[in-house]
Amino acid sequence: MSHQQATQAVRAGIETDEQYGAVTPPLYLSSNYTFENLGSPRKYDYSRSGNPTRDVLADCLADLENGAGAVVTSSGMSAVHLVTQLLQPSDLVLVPHDCYGGTYRLFTSLANKGGCRVKFVDQGDSETFAAALTEKPRMLWMETPSNPLLRIVDIVQLCEQAGDDVIKVVDNTFLSPIQQKPLDLGADLVIHSTTKYINGHSDVVGGAVIAKAEGLYEQIAWWANCIGITASPFDSFITTRGIRTLGIRIKKHEENAQSIAEYLDKNCLVENVYYPGLEYHPGHLIARKQQTGFGAMLSFTTKFDQETLAIFIKSLKLFSLAESLGGVESLICHPATMTHAAMDKSAQLEAGITPQLLRVSVGIEELEDLLSDLKQAFDFVENKLGNLQQEVSNG
Ligand SMILES: *Cc1c(COP(=O)(O)O)cnc(C)c1O
Repeated sequence: MSHQQATQAVRAGIETDEQYGAVTPPLYLSSNYTFENLGSPRKYDYSRSGNPTRDVLADCLADLENGAGAVVTSSGMSAVHLVTQLLQPSDLVLVPHDCYGGTYRLFTSLANKGGCRVKFVDQGDSETFAAALTEKPRMLWMETPSNPLLRIVDIVQLCEQAGDDVIKVVDNTFLSPIQQKPLDLGADLVIHSTTKYINGHSDVVGGAVIAKAEGLYEQIAWWANCIGITASPFDSFITTRGIRTLGIRIKKHEENAQSIAEYLDKNCLVENVYYPGLEYHPGHLIARKQQTGFGAMLSFTTKFDQETLAIFIKSLKLFSLAESLGGVESLICHPATMTHAAMDKSAQLEAGITPQLLRVSVGIEELEDLLSDLKQAFDFVENKLGNLQQEVSNG
């Protein structure tokens, strides 16, 4: 029987407890397991190498991404780090120029101490990308949609161009396996920061690497045990609890995001809206082709100066000013001073991150409430600006 993916997520590990018939799988905190007899270990011996609670989540993620196996790690960054174990010092990695900040830091630091060679490229520019391929990279790192401008690259096309000799990796964190399955589109590995949509409740930091083929899975699992970056049983348990509602959460996230994007698009105080679900978004058609939904991350610019921007953010009641994303609660952030503060000004501007840009992680609150909150904040600011203008013209 083949289940829809949302159903698979709901059913992860349900009715697998043979001892008591517990409906949900129990949490195994024990660090070690007895041997049945001298020379006969059981399925598990030590929790860093294998743990039943972590395996429930790993199996679920492998199923959802259509992979041969998954390794659950202690964070999204440790998932990125784990993949870099496949590289030799002479190997070249092509990384998107607008990749996640932590990924940028990890690859540059690794390259600086001779762990690999790295080249940051605009993968959306076909000439630049083709030129980079002539340098014979060993690994191609992709991230689509990108952060914070939601740029989309064509996974099928990039994977085909790169060819079989290149290990193709997609960071699928901004969507989820429900909306995009990179392994079906030609990638060899998918990584997730499960901190985001997979767990979905902003209460665990975690990650995962999912491999398409058994061989690569075994290498990744070997390295994960070797360097000791597997996730704790407790975090795995909480994340499995979160993933059960992935299907229903994503539906509501996307319904809210599409409506908010359309609302912002019509608002005369807003300059640009970046959301792949809007037809004029440059990545709209590729997103339609390779995704089953447009996700719930969006960004926009206003005509406000910094002071007004601060007032606007302060007057929002249902969008919390915070980094991170993918939780049930709506968040707003200012990339230039928050998530992307580590980039210098010129790098920010080159990546399109202006001081006017705001990024929103749209939550699953009632749409009406989110829309009226935005409306009251815009009204408040507009009145304030109107009063100022009046004072200026009167005075
Ligand atoms: C958050 C994030 C990461 C890093 O994950 P952590 O769980 O914070 O370590 C990697 N890639 C993307 C796209 C992210 O959003």
